[in-house]
Amino acid sequence: MADNKLLFCVSVPVYNEEKNVPVICEHLFRVFDSMPEHDFYILFLEDESSDRTLEEIKKQAAADDRVKYISMSRRFGKELSMAAAIDKAYGDGLIFIDADLQDPPELISEMIKYFLEGYDDVYAQRRKRLGESCLNRFFSWSYYRILQKCTSVPIQKDTGDYRLLSRRAINALKLLPESQRFTKSMFSWIGFKKKAVLFDRQARISGTTQMGGFFKKLNAAINGITSFTIAPLRLASIMGMAILAGSFIYAVYIIIRTFKYSYPTLGIPTLICLVLFFGGVQLMFLGILGEYVGRIFMETKRRPLYLIKEENLNVVDMAQGAGVNKE
Ligand code: UDP
Ligand code: MG
Repeated sequence: MADNKLLFCVSVPVYNEEKNVPVICEHLFRVFDSMPEHDFYILFLEDESSDRTLEEIKKQAAADDRVKYISMSRRFGKELSMAAAIDKAYGDGLIFIDADLQDPPELISEMIKYFLEGYDDVYAQRRKRLGESCLNRFFSWSYYRILQKCTSVPIQKDTGDYRLLSRRAINALKLLPESQRFTKSMFSWIGFKKKAVLFDRQARISGTTQMGGFFKKLNAAINGITSFTIAPLRLASIMGMAILAGSFIYAVYIIIRTFKYSYPTLGIPTLICLVLFFGGVQLMFLGILGEYVGRIFMETKRRPLYLIKEENLNVVDMAQGAGVNKE
């Protein structure tokens, strides 16, 4: 921009958040006003909500031209909305924040402080999780540990999508075209200088979580692991070999026992156990194989990641941003 101010895009994925839109805008504007040395705009990623979210956003956009939005042609999910922001956001930095104020917007000034020190990815790390059950916390805790054991890419623990990315990091993310996205793993994968900012995660201010439900979380966890690492395939091979070796040894043992010591062999129960065991193991690993084959299938379709229904990002905005598209 003319006066060489830095320009930050605060990108907010929203799905059925009509009540939260004005609240998050109010909070963000307060944060923006506290840092007049920088320029900011909000980029709502509206995920084809069934309530009045888009209308609320348009109302905000009419009142303040720092409010921009991209509205998807259908519900693509948060990960793909974020892909849209990575593609479209202009400016020096991109901040992802949820609309439910579980991530305190006040943290942005601290993030920018580190950004100015030269960090490319300043991520918010949860100190405590308020409003979440013990079981939930236990699952997240074990999940991060298992994931880290499977891969050599360092993974940020207790970290969501709330973060500030530099132009360099955004450009790197643009190079990852996969359609089966697990953005958290992509943030880790690109590397660059990272810095954690600690915060306490609050309970949602209104509405219910769209990500909730045990099976949805499990789904996300499986996606996370299979998009990050092929360690489960390796595990399948190693277990297969171990079981093969074990059964071979057992067979030799039975042959010796029968012929040398004339020991009567009781077959049926052993057989049933073995058949069930191998059936289970095979099905499990077929499933693992299937996960990856499924991913290959999805990737080979080479569809666009998302489709946009409408947006108010215009050419002038983009051109302004292009000027600061520096490394
Ligand atoms: N979200 C979205 N598309 C979806 C689901 C969620 O854009 O299909 C948005 C949602 O509006 C919120 C953010 O993603 O701003 C995080 O969602 P949520 O709070 O439900 O997830 P959680 O905090 O439980 O991980
Ligand atoms: Mg939330």
